[in-house]
Amino acid sequence: MPDERDTRANHSMHTIPGNQMPRDPALEPYDSYNRELESHVHPPDWVNPQPNGRYNLVVIGAGTAGLVTAAGAAGLGAKVALIERSLMGGDCLNVGCVPSKGIISAARVARTIRGADEFGIDVPDGTKAEFSRVMERMRRLRAEISPNDAATRFRDLGVDVFLGEAKFTGSNSVRVGEQTLEFRKAVIATGARASAPPIPGLQEVPYLTNETLFSLTELPGRFGVIGAGPIGCEMAQAFASLGSEVLLVEAAHGILPIEDPEASEIVGRSLQQDGVRLLCCGKELKLSGDDGSIRMSVESHERSYDERVDQLLVSAGRAPNVQGLGLETVGVEFDARKGVTVDDRMRTTNPNIYAAGDVCSRYKFTHAADFMARIVIQNALFKGRSKASALTIPWCTYTSPEVAHVGLSEKEAQDRGVAIDTYTQHFADVDRAILAGETDGFVKVHTHKGTDRIAGATIVASHAGDMISEITLAMTHGLGLKKIGSTIHPYPTQAESIRKLGDQYNRTRLTPLVKSLFQKWLAWTR
Ligand SMILES: Cc1cc2nc3c(=O)[nH]c(=O)nc-3n(C[C@H](O)[C@H](O)[C@H](O)COP(=O)(O)OP(=O)(O)OC[C@H]3O[C@@H](n4cnc5c(N)ncnc54)[C@H](O)[C@@H]3O)c2cc1C
Repeated sequence: MPDERDTRANHSMHTIPGNQMPRDPALEPYDSYNRELESHVHPPDWVNPQPNGRYNLVVIGAGTAGLVTAAGAAGLGAKVALIERSLMGGDCLNVGCVPSKGIISAARVARTIRGADEFGIDVPDGTKAEFSRVMERMRRLRAEISPNDAATRFRDLGVDVFLGEAKFTGSNSVRVGEQTLEFRKAVIATGARASAPPIPGLQEVPYLTNETLFSLTELPGRFGVIGAGPIGCEMAQAFASLGSEVLLVEAAHGILPIEDPEASEIVGRSLQQDGVRLLCCGKELKLSGDDGSIRMSVESHERSYDERVDQLLVSAGRAPNVQGLGLETVGVEFDARKGVTVDDRMRTTNPNIYAAGDVCSRYKFTHAADFMARIVIQNALFKGRSKASALTIPWCTYTSPEVAHVGLSEKEAQDRGVAIDTYTQHFADVDRAILAGETDGFVKVHTHKGTDRIAGATIVASHAGDMISEITLAMTHGLGLKKIGSTIHPYPTQAESIRKLGDQYNRTRLTPLVKSLFQKWLAWTR
């Protein structure tokens, strides 16, 4: 089982004057942007309100799941308390989507400039990213976005915001600091954190996780990444594009293991073209400290590698935050790896307590946390019967090209015995992709066999994350490929590839019998 120690312990903490909480490592460097961020998401002078009677809903954790639950419930008139032990906004704002996509945006600019020659554009002095400015820009934009998640904003929405660690003390009560909050219903929205895999030597070397990566101010000359899931691939490619020598080690056979193998292969190629050294099937990985650097010894495809890196990112899985909440005392079942056990209505094994987001779901995405929160509001407060299984949840990995997916993959369909037809449109035959020099990609749609009803799709494209929504919309509202084929898409766009799949489907309806009937009709009406 992975060692799930709190990775924060690996890094220095500072105490905020007048506040006994250590300062979150995400707030380093403690510059004007991070002070602005802090003033919104963990105001140092915050005074918790006095609880006043029983709450309809106590929400633990102010990440996406908690914030959406609290704001939605308060908006409907519920008396709501929201408890956050660290930074409001959770992973997404502080150490996840927002900072990672800020860095990726800069890396993409560097990458585009480097590829300018292919377009006949001469960039005389080459490209050199100034990493400190890239990170400063990210911190500025993160601070700019942060008022959305601010403690004061939620207070103004009518939510009682408590900063502190929450722990259940009874089936209808939670303690935060010295205060006890009584509730009718509670929601566990405590998220997840980077898990530390059992790699020999890991505990002895300094390493980064998503909680500390975004505090870097200097570009690591040599950057090691363990784990080629979405976070590992996104960061490996971004740091390589910004100028690091990147070594990406993955224990499995290939990168992005849950994606369509053809998609993973394209992204793997792209990572390597951007300078990432990729060691898949990495076995016997050992780490040790070595003269200020970190030594990574690993075997890959029967060759031994002995490499040194200046910084190491561990992105090898996420562990739910289930410890220290007193879940055992209130009859909430959980698993240290899978998180809080919930039924299809997001209810835990204690009927008064619900859960939402990364702490209870295998879909660890902001938009998934958002929609689970909406289910919780309906079911916890209004005896609703909304089901998580009814959600159609897409996702996207923001590499270049991006990989976006929704619904069943070919393998899942096979495993579940679902018969499918597959329609693929490669970008080598899509004019806009050809003109943009982005032909390495595709749209693949699986339909239930013999019908145009979409079972799943994968898109590999520069903006696959935007394109997948058309297919998600179709799946959510029961529109088939035929309808997509009859929808006019502007020419030339990469989204036209989706319409072309509709044409592919329509051609399958033109059976020899139908064709001969058409021919007879046309001959008769000539
Ligand atoms: C590097 C990275 C990049 C990502 N990029 C994307 C992306 O591009 N798109 C996407 O959709 N998703 C992305 N994600 C995933 C996304 O960030 C999460 O799915 C999302 O934040 C989950 O929200 P949540 O509310 O469930 O949990 P969290 O955001 O983790 O929030 C949980 C909150 O609970 C608090 N908490 C925990 N225990 C307690 C306690 N006992 N008392 C009080 N408070 C407590 C925590 O401090 C935290 O603030 C990324 C994640 C990472 C790490």
